[in-house]
Amino acid sequence: MTDPILFRSTNGGAGGYSLGRALLTGQAPDRGLFMPERFPPLTRAQLVGMVGKSYPQVAFAVLRPYAADQFDDETLRAMCDDAYDYEVPIERVERRRHLLRLDMGPTASFKDFAARMMGRMIGRLVRPGDSPLVVLTATSGDTGSAVAQAFAGVPGIEVMVLFPIAEVSDRQRKQMTTIGGNVCTLAVEGKFDDCQAMAKRAFSDPRLAEVRLTSANSINIGRLLPQSVYYVYAYLRLADVAAGEPVVFSVPSGNFGDLCGGLLALRAGLPVRRFVVATNANDEVPRFFATGRYEKIVPSRVCLSNAMNVGHPSNLARVVDLYGGHMDEAGTLHRPPDMTRLRHDMWAVSIDDEETRSTIAAAWREKRVLLEPHGAVGWAALGRFCASGEVEPDALAVSLETAHPAKFPEQIRDLTGVDPALPPALAALEAKAESYERIGVDYEPLREIIAARYGRGR
Ligand SMILES: *Cc1c(COP(=O)(O)O)cnc(C)c1O
Repeated sequence: MTDPILFRSTNGGAGGYSLGRALLTGQAPDRGLFMPERFPPLTRAQLVGMVGKSYPQVAFAVLRPYAADQFDDETLRAMCDDAYDYEVPIERVERRRHLLRLDMGPTASFKDFAARMMGRMIGRLVRPGDSPLVVLTATSGDTGSAVAQAFAGVPGIEVMVLFPIAEVSDRQRKQMTTIGGNVCTLAVEGKFDDCQAMAKRAFSDPRLAEVRLTSANSINIGRLLPQSVYYVYAYLRLADVAAGEPVVFSVPSGNFGDLCGGLLALRAGLPVRRFVVATNANDEVPRFFATGRYEKIVPSRVCLSNAMNVGHPSNLARVVDLYGGHMDEAGTLHRPPDMTRLRHDMWAVSIDDEETRSTIAAAWREKRVLLEPHGAVGWAALGRFCASGEVEPDALAVSLETAHPAKFPEQIRDLTGVDPALPPALAALEAKAESYERIGVDYEPLREIIAARYGRGR
């Protein structure tokens, strides 16, 4: 094996972190985001050798160079087999245009891919006999369930989820409150912002210093690396690998973690023709790519694709970093990225709710393909790109479907007349018993609950 890949901060103030240390640290001490110090080469010969492999096998091959000094091959292989025990279907929609369905995991969103692997990695880093590691997460819906599912039953780990009682759907709530065991859910009588503020206070509260608190949010490097695997997997399934045929990927984007996974694969050598960066009406990034000027959208705009309602993407600093620029955590651009190279690799477009709806309706009417709002933004953006003259109209292309249509039953019924069948993971929820505590938006009661459950006196 060559030297291990280490991790450094986008703010330049931290480097030389092993994967394990970066996983447990989350955000770098200088408030930057961890990035690999170099990229493992993914050569054509290697790709040819991977054709026909299963998803867990591809995950092992892609993650191995990053994980080698932390997990031996046998351990990593077991984690990949265990994390990816569900289907990853690729649907052919038109002759050369495909849909990569990342919606078959236990919470029916693509976040399962990253959360499940991160859960297993962090679970292996906790030593028996240590005090438990408490993963504290504030969620507006989807992240909480993916994280809770990912860590459920992992020895040495406790999970506490804060969610806004009135802002999550019944199904989203049940996905978190029916797990039990090491997962504790608190329903906050407030907004998502309140939950986030309460969690932030807990992280920086010296009175909770005896509790090993960690966040598992989307800026953790453990959420990023696994998201480069499915780009490689789709490529191996669809492209003429021996000829090095390039592929277009369309990525419905909010916090840009999904896209960053793709950019890591590109940097390693995956032949990607272009990433179509698809946003909803929160169009701060398409504007930035067009003008070079970055302005956040505050407050973010409310759109159908609600997991993408982001006015300042937390992973944008990573995109800027990959193109030689520097953006800090507040969104201030200290050094611009190389816009020529950035535009060579990415093409960004904003799709509004009206086009999202008409895309869902037309895909069903014309192709019998069932989309949901997030995937529809990606699909519409891919259509725009293929019609733009930037690429031949029949270029090999893949659009990512990031959630299962059954998560949005009313909208899908209205637009298509179809009642999307529940995937087994969601169907099983209906019969399960819920358990959660309600709390207000004051911090002190939360602190007491954390200290009582996980502190020394417990
Ligand atoms: C989180 C999410 C997205 C956005 O992914 P980012 O990595 O934040 O860009 C898109 N679709 C769904 C369904 C999501 O849950």
